[in-house]
Amino acid sequence: MKAPKKTKRFCPYCRKKTEQKIDLVSTGAKRGSMKRGGRSRLEKRGKWRGLGSLGRYSKPAVKSWKRKTKSTTKKVLIYKCSICKKSKQQKQGRRISKLQLEDKKKE
Ligand SMILES: [Zn+2]
Repeated sequence: MKAPKKTKRFCPYCRKKTEQKIDLVSTGAKRGSMKRGGRSRLEKRGKWRGLGSLGRYSKPAVKSWKRKTKSTTKKVLIYKCSICKKSKQQKQGRRISKLQLEDKKKE
């Protein structure tokens, strides 16, 4: 999918349409509360069991243990207003394999 680098979009902070820069939200390292310590430390903290994500002790994502998985991912775009410099994320992501940010061509 191709997307322009800049677009005109409604800014909820300025309450009007402004020029906004498009960027891709990076899927870098995730911050969690269970980075340090072993299992015993987790048990003392009352973690390890129960519902929800158990951080690195949870079953890993399907991608890491199944051979054939989805080839596309949901990419989230971030819009940064050029006037107030505040940014806002895209409401609904779409499954795409590759995203290309490109300059608008002058005709
Ligand atoms: Zn703004």
